[in-house]
Amino acid sequence: MIGDSVWGDLEPLLERVNKPIQYVGGELNSTVKEWNVGGFGPDGADLTTRWALMYPDAYEVGVPNQGVMILYEVLNERADVIAERTYSVWPDLEALLREAGLPQFTVDAHRSVRDFDLLGLSFSTELGYTNMLTALDLAGIPLHAADRGIDDPIVIAGGHAAFNPEPVADFIDCAIVGDGEQAVLTVTDIVGEWKASGRPGGRREVLLRLARTGGVYVPAFYEVSYLSDGRIQRVAPAPDATGVPWRVSKHTVMDLDAWPYPKQPLVPLAESVHERMSVEIFRGCTRGCRFCQAGMITRPVRERSITGVGEMVERGLAATGFEEVGLLSLSSADHSEIAAMTKGLADRYEGTQTGLSLPSTRVDAFNIDLANELTRNGRRSGLTFAPEGGSERIRKVINKMVTEDDLIKTVAAAYGAGWRQVKLYFMCGLPTETDDDVLQIAEVAKRVIDTGRQASGRRDIRCTVSIGGFVPKPHTPFQWTAQLGAAETDARLAKLRDAIRADKRYASSIGFRYHDGKPGIVEGLLSRGDRRIGRVIETVWRDGQRFDGWSEHFSYERWMAATETALADLPVDLAWYTTRERDQHEVLPWDHLDSGLDKDWLWEDWQDALDETEVDDCRWTPCFDCGVCPQMGTEIEVGPTGQTLLPLTVMGSGRQALAEQH
Ligand code: SF4
Repeated sequence: MIGDSVWGDLEPLLERVNKPIQYVGGELNSTVKEWNVGGFGPDGADLTTRWALMYPDAYEVGVPNQGVMILYEVLNERADVIAERTYSVWPDLEALLREAGLPQFTVDAHRSVRDFDLLGLSFSTELGYTNMLTALDLAGIPLHAADRGIDDPIVIAGGHAAFNPEPVADFIDCAIVGDGEQAVLTVTDIVGEWKASGRPGGRREVLLRLARTGGVYVPAFYEVSYLSDGRIQRVAPAPDATGVPWRVSKHTVMDLDAWPYPKQPLVPLAESVHERMSVEIFRGCTRGCRFCQAGMITRPVRERSITGVGEMVERGLAATGFEEVGLLSLSSADHSEIAAMTKGLADRYEGTQTGLSLPSTRVDAFNIDLANELTRNGRRSGLTFAPEGGSERIRKVINKMVTEDDLIKTVAAAYGAGWRQVKLYFMCGLPTETDDDVLQIAEVAKRVIDTGRQASGRRDIRCTVSIGGFVPKPHTPFQWTAQLGAAETDARLAKLRDAIRADKRYASSIGFRYHDGKPGIVEGLLSRGDRRIGRVIETVWRDGQRFDGWSEHFSYERWMAATETALADLPVDLAWYTTRERDQHEVLPWDHLDSGLDKDWLWEDWQDALDETEVDDCRWTPCFDCGVCPQMGTEIEVGPTGQTLLPLTVMGSGRQALAEQH
């Protein structure tokens, strides 16, 4: 029967797989509802709207995901809605499910994903695309949206990768760009109403209703035409898709205090990547790092108030029993009330088991003060900073306004305050980069060690240099740039490794971590790809590709073979999508998805990058006309609010300090 649990058949299989606990569900704060919780109308119409929410990666990566957790709770708060979660099954269970004829299932009530009205997928990165195909196939949902019938779920993509959903346009029914909290409720209302009225007009009608809101992208309603050289000529609404907008808008939640989710964070049963609770202290970032897609697409900055954060921490800890809280955002030290917030929380939880952390990587001494405050009683093991670029010149290109002196002062303060290990994060393959820009990372690391030895008076301090390959992303000033090839990236990193190892006085104090350039090229293909890349994804998946974010499962060779086969009859190839620079007037595959950023402003910022001109943060300077605020009817929302963390109960020796503060 539709909506029945498959647990009885699934359970015996779990004895034969790795980490069976990840498929069991029943976590603290999870929700299981009756299938027909919304009841029936007088004419027997089904009044329940059912969502399966998927993070297309393994449970341990997916379960702490804030986006899914928030939507799960927001939806389940509605009496007429069911939301359950599903994660990617590892290949061992996939094989057993196929053998037994069992479907992709939810971990909450172990229902078949195909029984739901909607399947919402959250794509933090493009590396979950092949896992989506596995889930659709296991669920018995046709891979291609065009082949789906009225009883198949509506497949909706969200998350940062959905800002260019074109590579998966054949497989999804819709995409939502931006914040999901309000958007999922709007979608629920539309789908619920359509169902309650007997599903008039079938699948096409409900998709039209969604598309006409202006905030739901339905790829099937848009036609793409190409020039003979392979570039896109035009993307336009299909003639019969009346009322569908030329550009689809992103969603922005302006008042974060009105959406204090998750209120009851999930506590994973199995080991997960974050064994802590997270509280998002603000959304958006206007620092303007030119490589950073997250910063660009989440503008403007919207802060949660200090009181709102305090309440979420208190309530979340009580609801979960976690002993660590992370204050999350893209650059947490930038919250206008961060000093009062960290002091208030450190006072509040002093003498308890609760640890606080600020996963911020801003390079300045203020950040060290915050880290010191949060670790008053704790261990001072490692701090991470992200200068991103090795030379002053390249840092101007990427608009990371940090001088080498800033960095040295910061690490001196860190080692002086008792921190023993500093981790520095850089990128390789940035636009205009030369070998010399990257080799300067070795010089920076040596200066850091010298400074640390001096500041701490010890020789056992360490600095770890961690390097990621730069991947140009849509909706950023670098969306036009050529990506560095895999072989060139590897050659540049090999030179850097040799330079670090060459000097024996430092070699044992400097750790060096990097990935080879191959996964970055596949990510680049998927990030800036268009609809034609769907063929590549399907080919590689049919060839067995799964779990692209995991080095033990990722196969560059398989991706290269699929790219060659799938694009053979087209005037485009891997290099065309990745290492080719685009010109100003090229129609980009994501131009019809409106992130709010003005394309002319992005181009000017790209030209500023080439001129090594920096642009300040609009939080503290006049607006730079990036377009987001007027376009989206939004504005920067920063404190100070004048509020405090009170009336929280103050505990331990911090009571006096907090009392004095007020
Ligand atoms: S429109 Fe102006 S104030 Fe708003 S995010 Fe862009 S630059 Fe900043």
